[in-house]
Amino acid sequence: MAMKCALSEELPVDEYLITEEPYYVPVGNEVEIFIAAYRNKLPVNLKGPTGCGKTRFMEYMAWKLQRPLITIACHEDLTATDLVGRFLIKGENVEWNDGPLTKAVKSGAICYLDEVVEARKDTIVVIHPLTDDRRIIPIDKLGVIVKAPDEFMLSVSYNPGYQSIVKDMKQSTRQRFVAIEFDYPPAELEKQIVAHETHVDEQTAARLVEIGQSIRNFKHHGLEEGVSTRLLIYAGKLIQEGIEAKEACKIAMSQPITDNPDLQKSIDEIIAAIM
Ligand code: ADP
Repeated sequence: MAMKCALSEELPVDEYLITEEPYYVPVGNEVEIFIAAYRNKLPVNLKGPTGCGKTRFMEYMAWKLQRPLITIACHEDLTATDLVGRFLIKGENVEWNDGPLTKAVKSGAICYLDEVVEARKDTIVVIHPLTDDRRIIPIDKLGVIVKAPDEFMLSVSYNPGYQSIVKDMKQSTRQRFVAIEFDYPPAELEKQIVAHETHVDEQTAARLVEIGQSIRNFKHHGLEEGVSTRLLIYAGKLIQEGIEAKEACKIAMSQPITDNPDLQKSIDEIIAAIM
C-alpha cells in the first residue's frame, strides 16, 4: 500500500458561516465584553446553567464578527486526536484529516467547546497552547506546529451547577479564560424570547415564564437545576400545536427536570395554579 501523506489543504469552512442574523436578546453587556475579548485574543468561558442562551449567544457573536463557528460537543470519550486530527486510509493512500479544532485554527474560525468539563482532562490539555500568548496547536502526528491567525478565537461553556470533584475545571485550565456569567433571562426578556420563539400570545408567554420562575425557586428543595428557557420554549411550541396548556407544561417541564414523583406533583400544582 502506498503511504502517501497529504495535508488536507482545502478547508470547507463556508458551511460554518452564519449568514442570517440569529435572534439574540442581550441580557447585559455580554456582547460588548465578548467583542473586547475577541479584539484582545482572549479566550472566553461562558458559565451558566443549561438552556439559558449560551449557544444562541455564540451563534450571534459568530455572525456579528463574521467568523465561521465550529462547535464541538465535549464528552468523556473525546480524545485529543478527535480534536486535532488523524490519518485515514483512503483507497490506497493514507490521508491526513484535520480535526475540528485544527480546522478552526487554520481557518481563523471561532471554536466553541460546549460543556468542556465533560471532556477528559488529558484531552483538554491540547487547548492550553492555544489559550496563551503562543496561540499555537502542535500536531504531533505530523510533526508540525500551526500558529493561529488573529481571527481565531476559542470559547468554552461550563455549567457550574454540575460541579463535582470528578467534573470540575482544573485551575490550570480555568485561569486561561475570561469568564462571562450567564443565567436565565430576567422575566420581561424571557417572556419576549418565549413569545418570539414559539409565537404563543403574550399572556401564555407570561404564564410560562411565571411557571418557570416558580419552579426555579424549588432549586433548594431537591431540584438539581431550575427549568431552562429552552424547556419554556418547548412548552410553548407544544401549546402552539394544540396540546392542552397544562399537559404541555407537564410534558415540557415537570417530567423532564425530575424523576422524583413528589417534586413532579409539586411542580404540577404550580402549573395548575398559574396556567
Ligand atoms: P445553552 O447553550 O445555554 O444550553 P441555548 O443557547 O441552546 O442554551 O438556549 C436555549 C434556547 O433559549 C435558545 O434556542 C433560544 O431559543 C432561547 N434563548 C435563551 N436565551 C436567549 C436570548 N438571550 N436571546 C434569544 N434567545 C434566547
